[in-house]
Amino acid sequence: MEQVDALIVGGGPAGAACAWKLGQHRADFLLLDKAVFPRFKPCAGWITPQVLKDLELNPATYPHSLTHFTRFEVFIKNFHFKPRTNQYAIRRFEFDNWILQRSKSRMVNHAVKKIRFEDNRYIVDDVFSAKYIIGAGGTHCPVNRTFFGNDPERKSGPLIVAQEEEFIYDYSDARCYLWFLQNGLPGYAWYVPKANGYVNVGVGGSEAGLKARGDILRRHWMLLEEKLDEMGLVRGHAYQPVGHSYHLRGKAPVLRRGNAFIVGDAAGLATVDMGEGISPAIQSGLRAAEAILSGVEYSVRSIPKYSFPSILGLR
Ligand SMILES: Cc1cc2nc3c(=O)[nH]c(=O)nc-3n(C[C@H](O)[C@H](O)[C@H](O)COP(=O)(O)OP(=O)(O)OC[C@H]3O[C@@H](n4cnc5c(N)ncnc54)[C@H](O)[C@@H]3O)c2cc1C
Repeated sequence: MEQVDALIVGGGPAGAACAWKLGQHRADFLLLDKAVFPRFKPCAGWITPQVLKDLELNPATYPHSLTHFTRFEVFIKNFHFKPRTNQYAIRRFEFDNWILQRSKSRMVNHAVKKIRFEDNRYIVDDVFSAKYIIGAGGTHCPVNRTFFGNDPERKSGPLIVAQEEEFIYDYSDARCYLWFLQNGLPGYAWYVPKANGYVNVGVGGSEAGLKARGDILRRHWMLLEEKLDEMGLVRGHAYQPVGHSYHLRGKAPVLRRGNAFIVGDAAGLATVDMGEGISPAIQSGLRAAEAILSGVEYSVRSIPKYSFPSILGLR
C-alpha cells in the first residue's frame, strides 16, 4: 500500500489549489483523479479578479486563453442594462491543467471507490493510505459521501442543472450576454465569447424550480439556440450540449471531520446568485491546505456567498 501524509481526491480547481499550497511547503501528498488531464469540464469558465489574486496568476504571463470583460449585456426578463465590470473568462480544459501542472503534484489516475478510516489513517481502495484526506471530487465526491453524507445539520443549497457547449466559432460579437429569468427559467442563460475563437453558451437553473413548474431544462436550451440565431450571435452550428449538476451554497456546518476535509463543489460552495464555483473552490482548497500545514481552523465562513458585488465592482 502506498503511504503518504495527505491524499487529495480530485484535481479540479479545489484540489489543484490545495495541492499548489501543500507543494509550496514540500508536504508529502498524492493527488488522485479519475480523469486524465487535460480533461473536459462543462463550465462557462468565468473567473473573478479574486481568482487571479488567490492563484497569483498574472494575466500577462498566463500561457492560455484569457478574456477580459469590462462590461456585460444583462437582461432580467425584459429589462436590459449594461453594467461595468472587471471579470475574466478562461477555458477549463486549459486552466485546470495549468493549475495542476504548476503545482508539480504527484498525480495518479485512479477512480476512488471505497474509503475507510482505520488505525488513524484513511485507506483508499486498499491501495493508498494517508493521515489526511481532502475531498475535492466535485458534486459526487466519495470523501463527502463517506464521511459527511449523514450530517443532520446539513442543508444543501439548490441543485443546479446546467447544459452548455464550448466550440470554435468565428464570432463577430465579442460582448458577454447574460439572460436571467427568461421564459420562466429559474436561472439564467449565457453567451461568453473567449480568446482564440471559442464561444461558450449554456443554460442553468434550479432543478426543484423547474420541476415545480412542470418544466425541463432542454426546453430552455432550445429557446437559447433560437435566441442566439435571432440575435445573430451564433448561426448554423450543430449543437451538442453536455449536462452537469452541482449545489449552490447551503448550510454545511461540518466541513472537517477528524483529518478529512471537503472543499469546492464537494462541500457545495458555489455562490447563491450566480452559481460561480471556481473562486470558492480555490479559496476552500487553499484553506484546507493551510489547516493541514499550520493547524489553523478550517473555515469557509468568509468566502463570499454572492457574486453580484464582485461583478458590479463593489468588492
Ligand atoms: C455548465 C456549468 C457552467 C459553470 N460556469 C461557471 C463559471 O462560469 N464560473 C464559475 O466560477 N463556476 C462555474 N460553474 C461551477 C464550477 O464549474 C464548479 O463550481 C467548479 O468546477 C468546482 O470545482 P471543484 O474543484 O470543486 O470540482 P470539479 O471541477 O468538478 O473537479 C472535481 C474533480 O474530481 C474528479 N473526481 C470526481 N470523482 C472522483 C473519484 N471518485 N475519484 C477520483 N477523482 C474524482 C473529477 O474527475 C474532477 O477532475 C459552472 C458549472 C456548470 C455545470
